[in-house]
Amino acid sequence: MYDFTKAIIKIENTTLCGASCVMCPRDEFKFHHQVMTLECFKKLSDETYRFGVRNMIFGGFGDPLMDVYLYERLDYVKQHYPDFQTSMIDTGHLLEGKKMRIVSTYIDVIKISNYGFSKEVYESVHRGSLKYEKIKSNIDEFLSLKKRSFTIMTFLDLPENHHEMAAWKAYYEPKCERIDIWKPHNWGGHTGGGGKGNYHPVQEGFIVIRFNFLRRWFGFPVLF
Ligand code: SF4
Repeated sequence: MYDFTKAIIKIENTTLCGASCVMCPRDEFKFHHQVMTLECFKKLSDETYRFGVRNMIFGGFGDPLMDVYLYERLDYVKQHYPDFQTSMIDTGHLLEGKKMRIVSTYIDVIKISNYGFSKEVYESVHRGSLKYEKIKSNIDEFLSLKKRSFTIMTFLDLPENHHEMAAWKAYYEPKCERIDIWKPHNWGGHTGGGGKGNYHPVQEGFIVIRFNFLRRWFGFPVLF
């Protein structure tokens, strides 16, 4: 029998996002941008916990911090299943004020995607409404907190930002717990038909299995 304690449930709690990243296929999907219901979330939490899953990641094709029910979800999980490890993948666009307090209190691990070290490069990669100065200030403040989530700063090595990678690494490496530098992938083959999601070849060693009938709300990333 498969040991589900090693599995991860990835919750796409919202498909709203303020960015329009150059490598992201999100805009090609036909679904409406929306927020997962609390009822659906509680059922997913209950069922996956019952199977033995102990790791939950908030992320997907959206910004988890744009979710109006984020606090209610995290409170539910931590009240009912305190041994669920909670993680989040985010840009830091809305990581401020009350949301920063929610994250630093309830999220065990945060991965911050940050693909540029100057205004010009950052905004040309992430695009949308993301502003370099605000995001850098949010991240700097978060990293300076005495009590906060284990933080992984993530950089995607693209032709657009490769020349800033060394400076980015030198700045963030001493300030956080871990840095990850990735090569781009094509979302596990999800975007094989062209368009910007097919912007780069598959990254070796990274598989994303998606249950298409539930595509709108979750997938199972399998990392090895
Ligand atoms: S922040 Fe994430 S979901 Fe939003 S456009 Fe960028 S890659 Fe896509």
